[in-house]
Amino acid sequence: MIKKAIDTEIQFLPGVGPKRASLLARELGVSTIGELIKLYPFRHIDRSSVTPIAEVIPDAALVQVKAEVVSVEKLPKRLHVTVRDGTAEMDLVFFKGIGYIEDRLVPGAVFTFFGKPSLFNGRLNMVHPEIDPVQNDGAGTREGVMTGVYPSTEKLKNAGITGKVMNKLMANALRLALPELEETLPGYILQENSLMGIREAMRNIHFPKDGELLKQARYRLKFEELFFLELSLIKQKFIRSRSDNGILMPKVGEDFNLCYNALPFSLTGAQKRVIKRIREDLMSGHQMNRLLQGDVGSGKTMVAVLTALLAVGNGYQACIMAPTEVLARQHFANISKYLAPTKVKTAVLTGSTKASERKKILPALASGEIGIIVGTHALIEDTVVFKNLGLAIIDEQHRFGVDQRSRLWSKTTGKPPHVLVMTATPIPRTLAMTVYGDLDESKIDEMPPGRKKVETLLISERQRSALWKFIRDQIALGRQAFIVYPLIFESEKLDYQNLEQGYEKVVEAFPFPPYKVAIVHGQQTNEVKTFNMDAFVAGRANILVSTTVIEVGVDVPNASVMVIESAERFGLSQLHQLRGRVGRGSDKSYCILVKGEKISKESKARLELLCRTDNGFDLAEEDMRMRGPGDLDGTQQSGLPIELGIASLAKDGDILEAAKSYANLVLEKDPTLDQPWNKSLKAELAKGKYNIKDYSKIS
Ligand code: ADP
Ligand code: MG
Repeated sequence: MIKKAIDTEIQFLPGVGPKRASLLARELGVSTIGELIKLYPFRHIDRSSVTPIAEVIPDAALVQVKAEVVSVEKLPKRLHVTVRDGTAEMDLVFFKGIGYIEDRLVPGAVFTFFGKPSLFNGRLNMVHPEIDPVQNDGAGTREGVMTGVYPSTEKLKNAGITGKVMNKLMANALRLALPELEETLPGYILQENSLMGIREAMRNIHFPKDGELLKQARYRLKFEELFFLELSLIKQKFIRSRSDNGILMPKVGEDFNLCYNALPFSLTGAQKRVIKRIREDLMSGHQMNRLLQGDVGSGKTMVAVLTALLAVGNGYQACIMAPTEVLARQHFANISKYLAPTKVKTAVLTGSTKASERKKILPALASGEIGIIVGTHALIEDTVVFKNLGLAIIDEQHRFGVDQRSRLWSKTTGKPPHVLVMTATPIPRTLAMTVYGDLDESKIDEMPPGRKKVETLLISERQRSALWKFIRDQIALGRQAFIVYPLIFESEKLDYQNLEQGYEKVVEAFPFPPYKVAIVHGQQTNEVKTFNMDAFVAGRANILVSTTVIEVGVDVPNASVMVIESAERFGLSQLHQLRGRVGRGSDKSYCILVKGEKISKESKARLELLCRTDNGFDLAEEDMRMRGPGDLDGTQQSGLPIELGIASLAKDGDILEAAKSYANLVLEKDPTLDQPWNKSLKAELAKGKYNIKDYSKIS
């Protein structure tokens, strides 16, 4: 069988060869011709128009002129060329490659010259313009098209793969590959969405004939990518909602009522609504896969407890997984309080649970004696066996690795457990639509009554002594304070130095007696961490100096001040998370952002936005817009579960929306994509490119 051009190794592409091929593979991850043409330009240089020399404006944009060589003058160390079109003259200057250029630019010959014009000694001048012969056919020539600018690296440039060479390689690749390229979208989809065909789109993304065609090409390719992504996600949901492999949990049960009736408060409207939805899920006969979003302090834990009690009421076990030891223990303490009026047995299992403890917990789990277990990753170890796990609640899920989660599902025989994922990091809409596209979504968008707004202030180092005084006053009132240092990468030495130095400064300003300062960070052993954390939670320490380990969930109602050092180094969502650690009690609370000496305008704007806004969802959208999805808190550690080639979750929200609703339409008519007209869709999905390596494993 003859190999298709698309599958041919890049080294066989004219102009590449083995050496450049291995560089291209290493630097850009491109090893076949088919992969090369999917390396899209990140911007284009407009060469679709030729500017008459008389109209060239010096120092404005790059321009292309079409002109005849008038004279060539060789000077010491440079070549001076004068060219002319019908309107005026201009000079070209070259410092390198003089011999070669001199040979090419013979007087009388016509070329296009592309470069940045400037004014020198009163004459229009261009230094080292790109020179191209004037030709009239399509791709590969430089006149009449816009050319793409591709990602590059120093090594590629050194190996001679310049922007111009890239354009040539791309032209060669397209010439070979385009005729083989098969349309991935059925004709009716192209038509209904007014999309350009794949070959035309490919040609125009690399060598657009004009701006309008480029726009259409981009739209087509982005739509395709997002459409398949959504199709793949929504298909999962369709299959799940049509299958009847969900554990039936029709009862409410005595323990639910015992807990509910003993609550010292009534549930908020939002909490009630969510629990009602969850009840419906549990009675539906389908597996629940629900994402519960709610700002810090909105009462998600309460919802988790009541959901777990529903499972118990139907004779099943529930587990609640937290991302850290500290959080698991705190959850356990809270949950135990709520469960006190019930007869449900509960336990906590983490990495530091003692062997003797374990020996009691494991058999009690296996026998079904323990109804609700709280824990960390320790819960997914092979030694942990459930009698009948019916519900898994995952708190702050973005901190869990994908594989770790899927191991939980393997703990059941028969029907998969219902899943409730809770997150306090509001997720931008577009990210939620993709990363969690196959989960049903619920939001708690209402705070328990009496919660006060946290006053947020932005200060600089100059106000340090006023800050210390303010904290002393708060401590005198019996309150506590958090002081958080940035520790973006836990391994960075420098960050630890900052933290240690910060701690020393704090201890200096707040000497013992009477003040007590605790410190918590990721490099401490669990024991030390827990000891210090407990000291603060119990009120024995006035101040907790820490890294972001306290970011998620920790509840100290008596803390009224959150100081965040070098606040510009955190993401908006993360800052918002940290702020949520205070304002949980009845006292007025403060979040004080200390900014570094030299921060950019944008950083300052972000921090000011935080001072004004207390809606986590708004902040998340803004964070996404400003930083792009790759840098979002949480997603940074785990990586986005999908890699997009051309579309951007930050910028293409509208296309995503369109692609999603269209994917829904397609699936409503043909949920399994078995109709003959959807054959190419099924084939494309089968390639596995669009699988989210994530929740697809749930059922
Ligand atoms: P989250 O997990 O969403 O951050 P929690 O469930 O920890 O929030 O709730 C924060 C605090 O609010 C807890 O002290 C909890 O007891 C309390 N709380 C929860 N629901 C209500 C409610 N409906 N009314 C009053 N207080 C509530
Ligand atoms: Mg919580």
